[in-house]
Amino acid sequence: MAKDAKIYVAGHMGMVGSALVRNLEAKGYLNIVTRSRSELDLLDQKAVQTFFKSEKPDYVFLAAAKVGGIHANNTYRADFIYENLMVEANVISSAHQAGCLQMCFLGSSCIYPRDCSQPIKEEYLLTGPLEPTNEPYAIAKIAGIKLCESYNRQYGTHYVSVMPTNLYGPNDSYDLSNSHVLPALIRKAHEAKVGGDKELVVWGSGKPMREFLYVDDMADACVFLMEQGISDGVFNVGTGVDVTIAELAKTVMKVVGFNGEILFDASKPDGTPRKLLNVDQMKDLGWQAKTLLSDGIAKAYADFLTSTSA
Ligand code: GDP
Repeated sequence: MAKDAKIYVAGHMGMVGSALVRNLEAKGYLNIVTRSRSELDLLDQKAVQTFFKSEKPDYVFLAAAKVGGIHANNTYRADFIYENLMVEANVISSAHQAGCLQMCFLGSSCIYPRDCSQPIKEEYLLTGPLEPTNEPYAIAKIAGIKLCESYNRQYGTHYVSVMPTNLYGPNDSYDLSNSHVLPALIRKAHEAKVGGDKELVVWGSGKPMREFLYVDDMADACVFLMEQGISDGVFNVGTGVDVTIAELAKTVMKVVGFNGEILFDASKPDGTPRKLLNVDQMKDLGWQAKTLLSDGIAKAYADFLTSTSA
C-alpha cells in the first residue's frame, strides 16, 4: 500500500473506524478519505455509487456497521440484519464498479456456529447452527464474507474478510442496555464506585467465556493484512486467550477501583458459552496482538472518563 494511495475508511466515527484512521495516520498514510453519516448515507445505494465514482479509492476498509451487545442484537433483530446487509452490498458492489481492487471487510466472531469446537478455526464457518441471540447480525456478516469471496471469484478483486473477537477501546458505546459487556461493566463499576454501592450487577451466570481485543490491535491487524497484499480469505483476529465473564468483572472492578460484590442476574441471557478464536493464520503471517487485557481496560476506562466528562 503506497503512502499516497487513496484509502477510504467507511465508519470512521465508530470504534473500529476511528482506530483504523489513527493507525493509518501513525504509519504515514497521507490520503485518507472519510465521510460522516450526514455526508454519505451508506444505506442509500445511489449515494454510495456516486461517492465511489467520484472518489475512486484504491483501498477500502469497511468498518461501518450497526453493532451492539447481546440485548441490542436480540431486540433490534430486523435493523441489525437489514442495515448491515445494505451497507455491505452497497459498499462492496460500488467499490467494485469504481475499480477498487483491495478491500478489508470487518466481520465478527459471532458468524461461527454456536457450539463449534474451540478455539474456532476459520474453516468452521457454515458448519452448524448459529447462536440465536445474534443470528440476524451474524447472517448479515456471513453475507458480507460471501460478497467479498464472490466478487473475488467472479471479478478477480482482492477483498479480504477479518473476523475480530469482542473488541473494546476508545469511542466504544457505554449505553447500559445496548452496549457490549466490557464497556457496560466499566460504566457499572464506575457508577457503583462513585455512588458508594455495595454490588455490581453482571448479566447471566458469569460462566460464559469471551476473548477481548483492544481496538488499536484490531486496526493494526487490518492495516497489516492490506500492507502484506493479502488478496483473499477469512482471517480471525484475537488474542488467543479468553476469560469468564466473572473473571472479566473482577478485572474491571480492580482497574476501576470498586471493591464491592458481584451479583449475577439470571434473568439475562448468557448467549454463546464460549467464543475463542484460533489465530494461527495471523500468527503464521507474523502478526500478534500486543495489548494486555488489564492495560487495555485501563486505557478504555480513561477514555470512558474523558467521554463522560466532556
Ligand atoms: P455477546 O458476546 O454477543 O454475547 O455479547 P455481549 O458482549 O453483550 O455479552 C457477553 C456476555 O457478557 C454475555 O454472557 C452477557 O450476558 C454477559 N454480560 C454480563 N453483564 C453484562 C452487561 O452488563 N452487558 C452486556 N452486554 N453483557 C453482559
